[in-house]
Amino acid sequence: MALYVQKYGGTSVGSVERIQAVAEKVKGFRQQGHDVVVVVSAMSGETNRLIALAQDMQTQPDPREMDALVSTGEQVTIALLCMALKKIGVDARSYTGAQVRVLTDKYHTKARIQDIETERVRTDLDQGRVVVVAGFQGVDTDGNITTLGRGGSDTTGVALAAALKADECQIYTDVDGVYTTDPRVVEGARRLEKITFEEMLEMASLGSKVLQIRAVEFAGKYKVPLRVLSSFKDGPGTLITIEDDEAVEKPVISGIAFNRDEAKLTVMGVPDIPGVASRILGPISRANIEVDMIVQNIAADHTTDFTFTVHRNDYDKAQGVLQQVVKELGARESVGNNKIAKVSIVGVGMRSHAGVASKMFDALAAENINIQMISTSEIKVSVVIAEKYLELAVRALHSAFDLDASDTVSE
Ligand code: ADP
Ligand code: ASP
Ligand code: MG
Repeated sequence: MALYVQKYGGTSVGSVERIQAVAEKVKGFRQQGHDVVVVVSAMSGETNRLIALAQDMQTQPDPREMDALVSTGEQVTIALLCMALKKIGVDARSYTGAQVRVLTDKYHTKARIQDIETERVRTDLDQGRVVVVAGFQGVDTDGNITTLGRGGSDTTGVALAAALKADECQIYTDVDGVYTTDPRVVEGARRLEKITFEEMLEMASLGSKVLQIRAVEFAGKYKVPLRVLSSFKDGPGTLITIEDDEAVEKPVISGIAFNRDEAKLTVMGVPDIPGVASRILGPISRANIEVDMIVQNIAADHTTDFTFTVHRNDYDKAQGVLQQVVKELGARESVGNNKIAKVSIVGVGMRSHAGVASKMFDALAAENINIQMISTSEIKVSVVIAEKYLELAVRALHSAFDLDASDTVSE
């Protein structure tokens, strides 16, 4: 008999029928003698609907009230799922984040979980109940409702699994596992049997939204066995594993991630003197804008062009900040582009193979795709390209690295 924490995402609870199907699935686990804690998202589209409502009310709503609003989506699904379970003879009880006491810090709309009380959950499990917990939400020490950022129900699931020392945290979604790349973009994408935490963390950070980044961080830190599966069809899914000796035989590239959420800004003709980077990025960081990639290049005339990327939502704000910076630095001008995309190849096998980046650049060159920026780490290479070439680039790289479903896995 095992203890499973099962998280069902928005599409998996998107209608009364889908919620009933989840209830049947949970009943199946109970009949096999397992204990089950379920974490649910809001019904698909509901969180977006609530955010749009808020924006109709006010351009920049108070984050505290935003959390009070968007957390309601999950409260609906916990209650409906418990009703569905009871209807088919499974005893169940619903809890909001605050009722469990998913304690978070005070950063509204992007709070981090600090502690989870497990007493009530354990008591219910001991009494033979299924416990249904609202994902994505918590409460701070002053009793304010907080939320964990988009996709945050994954993190609730993993954190609860860690706190309860569950045998496995199962993330049920609308695809049957983690694929070599988003299967909605590349038809030939392949499901991975396993992927390491390290690779999954890169994939999630670089844009693969199948798991929230923090959920992967949490699972890695607390060694929570984590599996991504489909709620629509049976199958083994993908196991996220701790890196082991098998890594030696792993393919060079495990997956391709991409992200359309970035924008690029360049300050041109900056005098080449010490302190410039800090005088450009200092005001950006003080405006609470996160910077991702950075490139600086000295030209023959002893000026530099300084380029960096930010989240697309911060593009206008960053442009405003740079106008002032240009004046203060005596730079020529600042320019920007928000029609860019970042494509990344990820794989722990890269560590022991040379020439991975050049193979990537060859594949992009063969499609006439211009690379605007490059960044590398031990297990990834990322490039910024024009957004209109994104899908072409992902497909070309998927084939170049032999990831297509019809290919055999290369060394
Ligand atoms: P949920 O609502 O269940 O949390 P999400 O929409 O957050 O589901 O995540 C599942 C989606 O992630 C899939 O529908 C798929 O389009 C996308 N996705 C992106 N990259 C990958 C990948 N490498 N493998 C699988 N799915 C991916
Ligand atoms: N409902 C929230 C969202 O749409 C949290 C989640 O689904 O994980 O982002
Ligand atoms: Mg999700």
